[in-house]
Amino acid sequence: MNIHEYQGKEILRQYGVAVPNGKVAFTVEEAVEAAQALDSNVWVVKAQIHAGGRGKAGGVKVAKSLDEVKQYASEILGKTLVTHQTGPEGKEVKRLLIEEGCDIKKEYYVGLVLDRATSRVVLMASEEGGTEIEEVAAATPEKIFKEEIDPAIGLQAFQARRLAYQINIPNELVNKAVAFMMGLYNAYIDKDCSIAEINPLVVTGDGQVMALDAKLNFDSNALYRQKDVLAYRDLEEEDPKEIEASKYDLSYISLDGNIGCMVNGAGLAMSTMDIIKHYGGDPANFLDVGGGATAEKVTEAFKIILSDPNVKGIFVNIFGGIMKCDVIAEGVVEAAKQVGLSVPLVVRLEGTNVDLGKKILAESDIDIVPAESMADGAQKIVSLVG
Ligand code: ADP
Ligand code: MG
Repeated sequence: MNIHEYQGKEILRQYGVAVPNGKVAFTVEEAVEAAQALDSNVWVVKAQIHAGGRGKAGGVKVAKSLDEVKQYASEILGKTLVTHQTGPEGKEVKRLLIEEGCDIKKEYYVGLVLDRATSRVVLMASEEGGTEIEEVAAATPEKIFKEEIDPAIGLQAFQARRLAYQINIPNELVNKAVAFMMGLYNAYIDKDCSIAEINPLVVTGDGQVMALDAKLNFDSNALYRQKDVLAYRDLEEEDPKEIEASKYDLSYISLDGNIGCMVNGAGLAMSTMDIIKHYGGDPANFLDVGGGATAEKVTEAFKIILSDPNVKGIFVNIFGGIMKCDVIAEGVVEAAKQVGLSVPLVVRLEGTNVDLGKKILAESDIDIVPAESMADGAQKIVSLVG
């Protein structure tokens, strides 16, 4: 799960990580009030969306007067920002962060991620702050330094200090940078983060080490024990299809292609996407209806797939293990009837009671293209959507 920058900064503050004073605003009036309440004469008006790259897209503006705060707030609120992370459709700005302007001396990068290859959290840092870390990694990988963290003992101060020296934090501020990194690490572990990225971390004219941006992502599987994090969830930033799917306990991720997939089991769902790709098609989603998919779940899954206007065909690939194929077939027929199918439907069933299942599909009056195998089904749906 993703949260807004201002929420991330609220969390960081609790862990002693320095962040500028600021306040969220939902209207232009609130933005001006927030600026007045801050003890500053330079403010930064920042679009709050679940995507980075806002600065380049005009979503971060420095205001030198309250009039400018008002002007920028009205320009940015309601605007659809297109950044390299939003996709071409962009994201509408519904909240702003009004923040004290900082006297930046230099921008750095600090980030914590889980390295799946070593199964350890890695602290990364670079002197090249402000720019996208992916660009730094591509152009000047030698400017990114890493410390692998032993989970049994956590981040050690000497590791943070080594990084601080490697990225050339001024000597007199190294202790502050170390405290910053230790606080960031504690927040990451305590809150079950999957990513904590500070870009930029800055050194200011008055000798502070601060987080000017904060991107925190959380492990969704841990949200049951992170009630305060869950309270930060902003459904308006999430895909409505994914929200609907989570209500029915369906694992659904929307993608860019045009072939809707309905599959049981995450492994089978992954390989279904692979085989569609292999035959030249593009999946519109990942969807795992789960081991014990009921007719109701199958119907909801169909509705969600069809609510995506990009879907030009559906491939149902189900292995009847715990669920028998005849029950699945009935569910598919029922769902297709209820939803009113408007696109080609290819169904591949395998497993318990498969013959009975195929018979139910064949005898229904729904236009279903049966498939003999995964490869057969993938080829058929790819050719049907053209
Ligand atoms: P994004 O990464 O989405 O572009 P950032 O929060 O990193 O957004 O802001 C972009 C840039 O704007 C920063 O690199 C920094 O130079 C500047 N900036 C952001 N917040 C402040 C602030 N409070 N004071 C001064 N400059 C800021
Ligand atoms: Mg940033």
